[in-house]
Parts: sequence; C-alpha cells; structure tokens
Amino acid sequence: MAPTLFPTASQLESLQRILHAAQYAAAKHAQQRRKGATAEPYVNHLLEVARLVSDALEEPDPNLVIAALLHDVVEDAGVTRADLVTEFNEDVASLVMEVTDDKSLPKQERKRLQVEHAPHKTVRAQVIKLADKISNLRAMLVSPPESWDVRRRREYVVWAEQVVAGLTAPSPLLMKEFRRLHAELLELFPES
Ligand code: ZN
Repeated sequence: MAPTLFPTASQLESLQRILHAAQYAAAKHAQQRRKGATAEPYVNHLLEVARLVSDALEEPDPNLVIAALLHDVVEDAGVTRADLVTEFNEDVASLVMEVTDDKSLPKQERKRLQVEHAPHKTVRAQVIKLADKISNLRAMLVSPPESWDVRRRREYVVWAEQVVAGLTAPSPLLMKEFRRLHAELLELFPES
C-alpha cells in the first residue's frame, strides 16, 4: 500500500497560497504601524484577523483566509483590484473589495456606510468584518491610541458594535469573543 501523503497536493497548494498572501501583505504594509501606543507592525493585525477567520471556518476556505490577510491592502497600500486578480484570483479580489471602504469619502461618511452596508455583505465577507472588529477591540484594550481620550475610545467601541449588530450571519464563535471584548471595553471607558 502506498504511504498516505500529508499534506495532500491540494492542501500543500493552499498552504503555499496562504503563505504567499502573508508575505505579500507584509511587504505591502512594511512601513505601516498600528495606531496604538506600542505601534506594532501592521502585519500583526493582518495575521490576527486571518487566524480568527480560520478559527471560525467550519469547512476549508483558503481564499477567505487569503482575503483576510489582504483585507487592508487596497485601502492602505495602494493595491488595486486588478493587482489582486493577477497575483491571486478573482474570488480573493472580490472578497477584498467587499471589505474595502471608499477612501475618497470623508471618514464619518465611511463609518456611517459601514453600518449601513453590513447587513448586505456576503456571509464570507461578514467573517472578515467581524474578525477585523475583534482585532481592533483587542488593540483598544491592550494598546489604545494614546492621543485618543476616553470619549473617543468609547465612541469607537460603540460604532464597532453598530457595524457588528448589522451582520446577518455572524460566526457564533467570533460573536462570543466580540461580545466579551465589547462589554469589557464599555466598562473601561464609561460614558462621561
Ligand atoms: Zn483591518
């Protein structure tokens, strides 16, 4: 009997594509740091979001993990949809575009649109959205932006909850983590 190969050829191919995306994202965001006091490399956020997404999966979906790694690459690093199609594939490009804000709009309008658009996102895009908000709330807990006062931090937490409340098919596992962080942060940043 021939020995069983592990990983299988297709699992190996998925792993290689995921690592390609991780390296691509790290290179594109190389000069970017998180807003918090510890100014972590931005890639830490991307890896955290991708890990949360992969933890939430009930069946394999390598393109979704890849899109999670790339979720800020259009918004923050000047990559285009066409670049993503060439470098990855159409599915990855569509997912990334679905979670990308229109940067030509003012910040407040973008935030309002995130709340408005959340219920209309595909189930897969909703997983990335929720994982992104979890990562941002965790950062708000351990390393909030120093220049943000308590009111501004609370406003961010309240807004993130409004976006998440609009998701129609959130992963129960991720939702539980979001709720825990949301409650802890509201207590930490009380209404003034
Ligand atoms: Zn993000």
